[in-house]
Amino acid sequence: MCRSFCWRKEKITAAAAIMDLVKNWAEISSARLVENLRAVQAVANRGASAAVETLAVVKANGYGHDAALVARVLVDAGVRWLGVTDVEEGALVRAALGESGAQPETRLLVMCGLEPADCTAVIAQGLTPVVWTVDHIAMIEQAAEAAVQRVRVHLEIDTGMARQGVDLAGLAAVAERLAGSRWVVCEGVMSHLSSAEIADSAVTRAQRERFTEALQIIVSKGIRPKLVHLGSTSAVDEGSTMGWVRETAAQLGAGAMVRTGLALYGHCLPIDTGREGALTSRLQPVLTWKTRVIGIRQIGLGDTVGYGATFAAKSLMRLALLPVGYADGFRRAASSGIGDGWVMIAGKRAPVVGRVSMNLTTVDVTDIEGVAVGDEVVLLGEGVSAEEHARWSGTIPYDILCGIRAKFELK
Ligand SMILES: *Cc1c(COP(=O)(O)O)cnc(C)c1O
Repeated sequence: MCRSFCWRKEKITAAAAIMDLVKNWAEISSARLVENLRAVQAVANRGASAAVETLAVVKANGYGHDAALVARVLVDAGVRWLGVTDVEEGALVRAALGESGAQPETRLLVMCGLEPADCTAVIAQGLTPVVWTVDHIAMIEQAAEAAVQRVRVHLEIDTGMARQGVDLAGLAAVAERLAGSRWVVCEGVMSHLSSAEIADSAVTRAQRERFTEALQIIVSKGIRPKLVHLGSTSAVDEGSTMGWVRETAAQLGAGAMVRTGLALYGHCLPIDTGREGALTSRLQPVLTWKTRVIGIRQIGLGDTVGYGATFAAKSLMRLALLPVGYADGFRRAASSGIGDGWVMIAGKRAPVVGRVSMNLTTVDVTDIEGVAVGDEVVLLGEGVSAEEHARWSGTIPYDILCGIRAKFELK
């Protein structure tokens, strides 16, 4: 697998002078990424006779892991479907796959909306849009006819998110329009769960029921989808939906697919009942975010640190200065007195002192012997997880990961 990435390593070596100037960087473990993929596939396929297709979600720049980088690893590992945010990201990922000579037949599902201006790129880049309105179908049809090329689309059903998707009341009209189109082919039918991390949720059951009804309407209009997909990471982890999707798909003579993002990157929301999910313990974080110490100073009793002078030393302290702040995605909520965050230096916790600034953060290294300028610092990784960052900020790991702005290296 490394071979196809040599171009990138070389590029990094050639740009070594520039990399030396980089203030914070993220190392991505391709081995862990592939292990996480295998774990998702193993759990999603439990008790299945036919393999469930995996769509690897690389939207939002690969949840902050560099979409081009992770897409290439995943495709090399056998993934046939990737989920991207929009046509712009689709084109970027398509180009990255093209450069590596990775399978040109890799399918890219455009997950977040469709506008008229996107349709030419959909065809030129070989993307597969998610559609849910008559207008979507009409605009794709126009572009497809002009290019004399049939376009496969996936129809999204709103079963309770009220975000994307057609609701049951509007479905018949959309399905009829799709069924009657010469140029637009309904390849997949999908929906998205709002509460997949809640065990045996009544909300999830209601969504599944609406999805069943939707599939009946779609079939009654003469559409025969090849793929049916509903679950994401938490659905695989929680478990009760995957078997249902497989059965539902099989009854239609279709394949089942799972759309997984967070798990690939080594994270999973806890199941709300506190019981461990089937997937959680098998995942390993893929990203290690690092920086270097750029300054060391001593402060004494009463000296204050940072904006607002929110921290005053109670004794002699040794502080290390880091060239990273909230502009890089190191959240202001990690400040002492707010989230009380920390970083790892030499395998030990160095607590944040005072407020995180835009591009600078100060940490306490009084109890870590011998810290010097140039020492490596782990901002997120071993000893300081995305879940901990999320806790400081009152948010979820998704939000932390896709907010990281760093240079990326494959390890
Ligand atoms: C982001 C997204 C996913 C992936 O969700 P994870 O929880 O990261 O696995 C799946 N489906 C849709 C519609 C999404 O927007």
